[in-house]
Amino acid sequence: MFITCENLVKIFTLADEVELLALQGLDLEIEQGEMVGIVGASGSGKSTLLNVLGGLIRPTAGTAKVGGRNLLKMSEAELDGYRRDEVGFVWQQSTRNLIPWLNAAENVAYPMIMAGTKQRVANQRAAELIEMVGLAERADHTAERLSGGEQARIALAIALANNPSLLLADEPTGELDTVTAEMVYELFRTLNKELGLTTLIVSHDPGIARQVGRVVSIRDGKLAGETVRSRIAVNPSTTENGADQPEEEFEELIVLDAAGRLQIPQEMRDELGLKRRVKLEQTDEGVLIKPVQPEKTEQDGESS
Ligand code: ADP
Ligand code: MG
Repeated sequence: MFITCENLVKIFTLADEVELLALQGLDLEIEQGEMVGIVGASGSGKSTLLNVLGGLIRPTAGTAKVGGRNLLKMSEAELDGYRRDEVGFVWQQSTRNLIPWLNAAENVAYPMIMAGTKQRVANQRAAELIEMVGLAERADHTAERLSGGEQARIALAIALANNPSLLLADEPTGELDTVTAEMVYELFRTLNKELGLTTLIVSHDPGIARQVGRVVSIRDGKLAGETVRSRIAVNPSTTENGADQPEEEFEELIVLDAAGRLQIPQEMRDELGLKRRVKLEQTDEGVLIKPVQPEKTEQDGESS
């Protein structure tokens, strides 16, 4: 397994000692070369997870391993080296990715020069990377004169500059229109395939499942569900546009953690009247979770 998070916890201590649990025992496994989408409501811990995996912030407890490295046990110096040599980042805001007054080629060469690469070598690699993201003819345009989609492509080239083994993108298409976003995802997929680069993309876009191999959803700092692609036999004549329809479907699954816990979506709990206590019934098809009616709380002295 390339990435393993077990019971990962991140607590931020705010002013006046208030503690905020950004990750609350998150379990996640990602294989080398996988391309995974991460979705979840705002504040659910997506960016925190990415920052932990990228070595930008240190988790509080649990396990976080990437490529055999234990991120909780590394020294500051080791973490610095890890971040510089192994991880590529793409952020949502282009200003965080690019220096506006440098041209595209200079922007891509910059992190390499900062990491000690000779100017000539950096320029050469920058040119190759810009070619790879399909922007060779824009190499001498300053970042501020590039379109949003072009800036995202350059951001990807920058992220790849130091030849990382892990690519982390935090809402990389957040400021792009749908068509441009589609092109950027396409580029992510191509790079993932060609370079075998393990790629994690945080997105608020519910359609992300179509762009990646697997989607995990985070709720309250925990892994809550997964959407997987399942190939099904679709008879072309029964689909709207005939044979052009992709022959696959997306199935949303709930994650059962190592301790046997699962999260039942709020809407489902509300609709079925599932409260603090439920009945489990084993049937031939699986386990049935039934509401208890009426809910008594005084029974054994436990209050809800
Ligand atoms: P998301 O990216 O899913 O919107 P975040 O990971 O940014 O969520 O945040 C998760 C929670 O942690 C939020 O409640 C957020 O306010 C809090 N948080 C994130 N970063 C910090 C920080 N540096 N200091 C304090 N609290 C933070
Ligand atoms: Mg975020």
